[in-house]
Amino acid sequence: MTKRIAVYPGSFDPVTFGHLDIIKRASEMVDELIVAVLVNKAKTPLFSADERVKMLRTVTKDIGNVRVESFSGLSVDFARKEGAEFLVRGLRAITDFEYELQMAQTNRIMAPDVDTIFLTTNLKFAYLSSTTVREVASYGGDISRFVPPEIAKAVEEKYRQQQSRQKQE
Ligand code: ADP
Repeated sequence: MTKRIAVYPGSFDPVTFGHLDIIKRASEMVDELIVAVLVNKAKTPLFSADERVKMLRTVTKDIGNVRVESFSGLSVDFARKEGAEFLVRGLRAITDFEYELQMAQTNRIMAPDVDTIFLTTNLKFAYLSSTTVREVASYGGDISRFVPPEIAKAVEEKYRQQQSRQKQE
């Protein structure tokens, strides 16, 4: 039987409990789940792609069939290169829906052999986004309910570095 591979693409800047919930559930549906960190040159992320890959590897180390990579370009091209049949995306609220539907339809036209699977968010994490995590952390707020401890430490450290750099300037 051929191996069923899915790609879960995203920015993961940083990875949250919401992402992790999708990763765990998606990994149970396929033989291999590739979590793919998008290197988007148009955006300036808080963490570099390498840092995001490392953080994802740390928090997914106990899930045997998860691999973490970075990629640039189109998700469907990356999926094809990896021999993946599916793209996984998470849906939080109706606000995600319109964009996600449009993306999935566009991807399906570009790559009819790659299908998108949507997993609805665990309600516990429906409100949660990387943007919120960054915003709360940037004001010194507690993000321990949103991300695993290793990630909270890395985010807090990043803002500390940024603030000490700003003071020096
Ligand atoms: P992108 O920039 O591609 O939206 P994100 O890292 O923000 O990247 O999200 C990657 C995927 O994870 C998207 O499909 C997004 O809808 C989903 N996602 C983000 N946060 C959550 C959450 N709290 N619950 C479920 N899915 C989520």
